[in-house]
Amino acid sequence: MRLSKGFVAVAAAAVTVLGLSACTDSAAPESSVDVEEVADFQDGTTMARLAEAGEITIGTKFDQPLFGLDDGSGTPQGFDAEIGKLVAAKLGIPASGITWVETVSANREPFIQNGDVDLVIATYTINDARKEVVSFAGPYYQAGQDLLVLEGNPDGIESVDDLAGKKVCTVSGSTSEANIAEYVSAPTDIIATDTYSNCLEPLRTGAVQAVTTDNVILAGLADQNEGEFEVVGAPFTEEPYGIGLALDDTDFRMFVNDTLQDAEDDGTWDELWEATAGKVLETPEPPAIDRY
Ligand code: GLU
Repeated sequence: MRLSKGFVAVAAAAVTVLGLSACTDSAAPESSVDVEEVADFQDGTTMARLAEAGEITIGTKFDQPLFGLDDGSGTPQGFDAEIGKLVAAKLGIPASGITWVETVSANREPFIQNGDVDLVIATYTINDARKEVVSFAGPYYQAGQDLLVLEGNPDGIESVDDLAGKKVCTVSGSTSEANIAEYVSAPTDIIATDTYSNCLEPLRTGAVQAVTTDNVILAGLADQNEGEFEVVGAPFTEEPYGIGLALDDTDFRMFVNDTLQDAEDDGTWDELWEATAGKVLETPEPPAIDRY
């Protein structure tokens, strides 16, 4: 692993391979990335505070296979969780030093603003409205909004333009909810709940004819419920995933950006992807980081 200036790798802290199921203690599984010993962060920075504490609190989704799915012990598994472990490791914090907090789409900004979490890594689209209240490192992945329908597509929904007169489930506070408004016949055709997994039962029962959000979230739900659902496969937006952090904490934002860039350059990004979301999805070229 390439070392950043100011860090010394601690070989002994290099940890178990991601996804290892034979984990015997109750501690959170470690990341496949090496935990680094922090030599010096400038006093007063968020990095110095977190490194000194040896702890970090990260908000993520708990019900999204491939990105953040609670393994039953309150420890999320997936690409977002691995990105969280990557950032923590660069601060010298092992996975066991991460407190995971479930964030749903609607509470990500307030959780950051209130200091309930240090980072949000939660299929979280970077956009200008959100940048008014939080800052974003990244993007570290680019998704696109799509539709999930029943297996066999009984209502013949081939694209977002086929939603007239149909009901669609999505999540409050998401870009998905905002984006879908122009495609439905009436606002009441949008059924908004708190998590995407809560949209599956209405789709099963026919209360809605589609679920809409990012293609990769839908792919995870389809994979988790084999034979029940299919992704339409006609993405109609761009959803660059960022790491949310406190507004104008520029030093921290740049540190996280450097961490992502290093991971893209040295192959760690690919490894983390392939061990998680890449089990179902193709490995893409990571998007260019926007250091605005
Ligand atoms: N990426 C979109 C967003 O941040 C939709 C997925 C989600 O709600 O997490 O709003």
